[in-house]
Amino acid sequence: MKMSDLQLCTHCQSEVPKKATVCAYCRRDLNHKWYKKIQFSTVVTFLPFVLFVGYLKGWFEPEFSNYQDDFKTTQVNMLKIPDVQGNRLIFKIENTSDVKWENLSYELVSTKDNNIVEVEAGNQRAWVIQPQSASYLMVDSLNDVNGASWQLNIKNLEVPLF
Ligand SMILES: [Zn+2]
Repeated sequence: MKMSDLQLCTHCQSEVPKKATVCAYCRRDLNHKWYKKIQFSTVVTFLPFVLFVGYLKGWFEPEFSNYQDDFKTTQVNMLKIPDVQGNRLIFKIENTSDVKWENLSYELVSTKDNNIVEVEAGNQRAWVIQPQSASYLMVDSLNDVNGASWQLNIKNLEVPLF
């Protein structure tokens, strides 16, 4: 037997074949690395489970951070809310990606003379935008500052699970 086919038993230091799992001299288990004990059949059994969990957890889904440049947001309307101090804003959001998105998280920033006068974060779970299309979003702003302007920043979108 060649030297390269041999290993030293971790218990009695005897030379035993590399493929041996039990030492021929002291009969104790040979200290193999844990990952060498994983059998192919085990991997095949658990792979579908791992893939299913990955699917549910969105490991294979597109991340919005990689698609941010595919979105364009423009304010199309502003209405006074009757009897309430504030404004109702309508934004048009265009999606030039080939992906359908939902569950919008946004940040509404209101400025006047380069000063931020209001920041409001929100989430619209039912909001959906199809690939290569546009959707509208209605957001209420409590800020009633004369001459203020608003900017809607999309913070996150998700890909539908099914
Ligand atoms: Zn031994």
